[in-house]
Amino acid sequence: MKCQIILKPFWGEGNIDYVEVEYRFDILARGAGEELCKITLSAYTVPGCEAEEFRVWDECGEAVITTTVSEPYPYQYRHFQSERALFGAVAIRYLVHPRPLREGDRCAPYMDFRCEEGGGTSAGSAFLADFGAMEGETTLSWDLGHMPEGSRGICAFGEGEVTLQAGPGLFRDCYYCMGAVKSITEGDFGVYWIAEPTFDMESIAMYTRKLYGGMRAFFRDSESVYRIFVRKDPYTHSGGSAMVRSYMFGWNETEPVSLENKKNILAHEMVHNWPHLSDSEGESTAWYSEGTAEFYSMLIPLRMQLITPEEAREAIQGMTDSYYTNPTRHLSDQEAAAVCWQDWRAQTLPYGRGLLFLANTDVKIRKATGGEHSIDDVVLDILEKRRNGIEQGNMEFLETVRDIAGIDVTEDWETMSRGRHFAPLDGGFDGYFHVVPKEMTEKDTGKTVVSYQWELDR
Ligand SMILES: [Zn+2]
Repeated sequence: MKCQIILKPFWGEGNIDYVEVEYRFDILARGAGEELCKITLSAYTVPGCEAEEFRVWDECGEAVITTTVSEPYPYQYRHFQSERALFGAVAIRYLVHPRPLREGDRCAPYMDFRCEEGGGTSAGSAFLADFGAMEGETTLSWDLGHMPEGSRGICAFGEGEVTLQAGPGLFRDCYYCMGAVKSITEGDFGVYWIAEPTFDMESIAMYTRKLYGGMRAFFRDSESVYRIFVRKDPYTHSGGSAMVRSYMFGWNETEPVSLENKKNILAHEMVHNWPHLSDSEGESTAWYSEGTAEFYSMLIPLRMQLITPEEAREAIQGMTDSYYTNPTRHLSDQEAAAVCWQDWRAQTLPYGRGLLFLANTDVKIRKATGGEHSIDDVVLDILEKRRNGIEQGNMEFLETVRDIAGIDVTEDWETMSRGRHFAPLDGGFDGYFHVVPKEMTEKDTGKTVVSYQWELDR
């Protein structure tokens, strides 16, 4: 299968009015009434795009399309199906408009297509159709003929035309930027923005370039592609979200931005490029992706001496206190996953418990193997298997710990994932710190609860 995706943004009154999206498959077969594709109408409460003027042609001409909507939490999809069977070369075309933002609208996570002065940024999943798993070759290209002179089109995989040995789905999983884009690039690494920043973009680009080099080496990644997209939020709250080989971070005029206060989030989002476990029925693995993101967002910069032990301590302290004072911390992983997009306090649970469980497991592995192995070996082993197409979940994590260290941490894992109390161990985070219990006030309720104070050992 070969697929071409052509993105054609149209400039309107002072900004992108809409983007015409076109798919050309050299071959595609769908039965009558079978789903052709779906488009994300909303993800995690953030709206995607409605596909307008959606039209489909195959070798027999234009097909009549019907649509349905489904709402598997936390998504909402529009599904497209052809009334008759489709075969041979198939072309699909539709239009998407950028999201109109009103005061009070939720800005994050960055799963939307949005404009700021000069152009737009988007998650691929906000405007590209999902055709399901497919193998083959896909080329993405831009037609910028209806945009102001000098306009650019960039996705995580590159600027302008990009070909991947993959189905079109991979292009949904990364970030985009189009219009009057400015950038700092070095090879396949780049930082891209539209609105003129009120902070030093250069220092952020330099820092993340170094950090990416260190993370790539640690995670044994042979691919050099990584792109960071910067978006200006219109209101007072900004965040960051990661997709494949890319992430987007936001800023606004009311919250000051500096490299210092962005270091943690930049590192956290970058780690997301690598460690993952797969969710299975009734089981959440968010503790692993968020926990490793928190864990290595501190440890890799610390090992590279990009941050000081005191900076790492402060970051770990913040995460520890926020976990133990979170009134929803006794929710299990599944319960937290079920409510986290409604109750934002539950959204951060996997970060804190994942971080502390991984740090404790690290201490135990080092102890059991006389310092020969650590959690790094577990994370790298899981990553290597995943690169070879082996899906792994919570059970495989526990097995890998057993294989590498000869210890069984199932009970610890159950304690963590069921939301029961556990204490961090001394000697975590490469042996820099010890911990002592302390009293704190629980958020919202004011109850007295136990947290832990990290103190530097060296
Ligand atoms: Zn994260």
